[in-house]
Amino acid sequence: MKVIPVIETLKEWSKDYGHPTLRRSSLEKDPFKTLISCLLSLRTQDRNTEKTSKALFSVASTPEEILELPQEKLEKLIFSSGYYKNKAKTIKHVSKVILEEYNGKVPSELDELMSIKGIGRKTATITRVFGFGIADCIPTDIHVFVIANRLGWVNTKTPEKTEEELMRIVPKEYWFEINTLFVLYGKEICQTNSPFCSKCVINKYCPRIGVKRSR
Ligand code: SF4
Repeated sequence: MKVIPVIETLKEWSKDYGHPTLRRSSLEKDPFKTLISCLLSLRTQDRNTEKTSKALFSVASTPEEILELPQEKLEKLIFSSGYYKNKAKTIKHVSKVILEEYNGKVPSELDELMSIKGIGRKTATITRVFGFGIADCIPTDIHVFVIANRLGWVNTKTPEKTEEELMRIVPKEYWFEINTLFVLYGKEICQTNSPFCSKCVINKYCPRIGVKRSR
């Protein structure tokens, strides 16, 4: 299992691409913004996450400010992220809990984050790693799950189990980057339905486990 060469190759490959919105949010060192952007990113493309995050934060970027926004205005601001009614409800609820139970400060512990309705493990780990800069877990979404299984690094059925296995085999120094690299690679090359194996920069390391159709 060539974990380090794969990650190093992807790091090199990724230099031609910009970072996804959630990774870029780490530069702001504002866990609340990372958390809200992550909620907006669910089931939508990165460009929509970026657009709606910018629109929302230009008007409201703290729990207090979001709670002051009328529901309809919030829905309008985040409309392009899809599922905007549900997302608006979740964002309001999360802001209320953070304000009332955590004095307006996003908790950094995964258990605390996940105890808030609307925050699942992926959102909690993204917030911890990119919002707080604490890379002691590996945010694992569909891309991380699919690529790690195709590479044969893990043999898992769920993102949660994948994260657990990856934490065993990936050296800790790469935990911060691996989500960004696999998400980008999953969008551009190792696509879920039909990967571009013919132009894959890591194909010599990949047994293509479970790949039925490729380009
Ligand atoms: S060889 Fe194909 S399946 Fe393996 S990582 Fe590359 S694109 Fe994905």
